[in-house]
Amino acid sequence: MELKSLGEFGLIDKISELFGDIIPHGCLSIGDDCAVIPISDRESLVVTTDMLVQGVHFLPERISAWELGRKSLAVNLSDVASMGARPYCTFLSIGLPEGVSQEWCDEFFRGYRSLGIPLLGGDTTSSPQGVVINITALGMVPTSNLKLRSHARVGDQILVSSTLGDSGGGLRALLENKGQYAELIEAHHNPVSVTEQGIWLGSQRCVGAMMDLSDGVASDLQHILKASSKAQAIACKTTSGQLGATIKTENIPLSEALKKTLNIEKSWDPLKLTLASGEDYCLLLTAQADQTPLLKAQYAQQFPGEQLHNIGQIDHSGKINLTKAGEILPDIHLMGFRHF
Ligand code: ADP
Ligand code: MG
Repeated sequence: MELKSLGEFGLIDKISELFGDIIPHGCLSIGDDCAVIPISDRESLVVTTDMLVQGVHFLPERISAWELGRKSLAVNLSDVASMGARPYCTFLSIGLPEGVSQEWCDEFFRGYRSLGIPLLGGDTTSSPQGVVINITALGMVPTSNLKLRSHARVGDQILVSSTLGDSGGGLRALLENKGQYAELIEAHHNPVSVTEQGIWLGSQRCVGAMMDLSDGVASDLQHILKASSKAQAIACKTTSGQLGATIKTENIPLSEALKKTLNIEKSWDPLKLTLASGEDYCLLLTAQADQTPLLKAQYAQQFPGEQLHNIGQIDHSGKINLTKAGEILPDIHLMGFRHF
């Protein structure tokens, strides 16, 4: 059977099942942005690993070595932040093909170093084709601050920590050789760190589920709905009650740069860019509806110039509904990025 018919997440489910009976006591394994390992009564270690493959995640002629070094680490750190954790250290394994220069390596590691997170080890090998980068990042969090994908509840507001779609627009600009959209390309190559935001949101009791947006809201929110439905079914000993969500498309925040670009590029679909393109690397979270106004006000005070944007609400519908001015939009197929 072809792997394609199983899909990336089907394969991950199979792996998860195979190892489900040997999870160390108290640990959380496959299924969230990081695995969780309790290290004391009050503290947990979170661990994530992410791979970047030349030709799949980046094109070396389009991204500088410095940017690639920084971005490779940043995408791991956003997984750590999404748990409410503070990054502690990292490990880097790198496969390098023939022809890579010393200068390229120097720049790559300078970019990695720019984020100020310790690199404690790794592995270096040759690669028959293309650069392969694998980073493992570890973070620490007071266990009571942990934010999991399974913590969404019906009635919660759905929030994002920044405007959406700039990175997707940047990728599209790169692929269409439209270097004039420099701000979007910058967003694609240099995701803004959400470390402090994740730690702060972790400490807020009214925040339920949290994850980072790597594949787009349409796909990533599904993970929150699935994990939270499962957790509730276990808690209530029932199988019914699949969670769903309503996304108000008019509430989706767009940057000025993306708005301007969309006015020119009429064939760029705003919904696809904001909901089904990947690599925004901001935070997607849910919060108790009655506490949301205060949470938003305190967040804006804590992070001047930034804000949390409400994009919708968790409901019982079992699926994601997109609405515009109260009307449900036709079920457009909004798929995030899939590897298989
Ligand atoms: P993210 O986008 O947050 O990095 P992924 O979608 O890559 O998360 O992975 C989802 C979950 O599946 C994570 O818990 C991750 O650790 C797990 N996972 C992915 N690939 C594998 C694998 N090959 N073996 C074990 N776990 C995996
Ligand atoms: Mg993630």
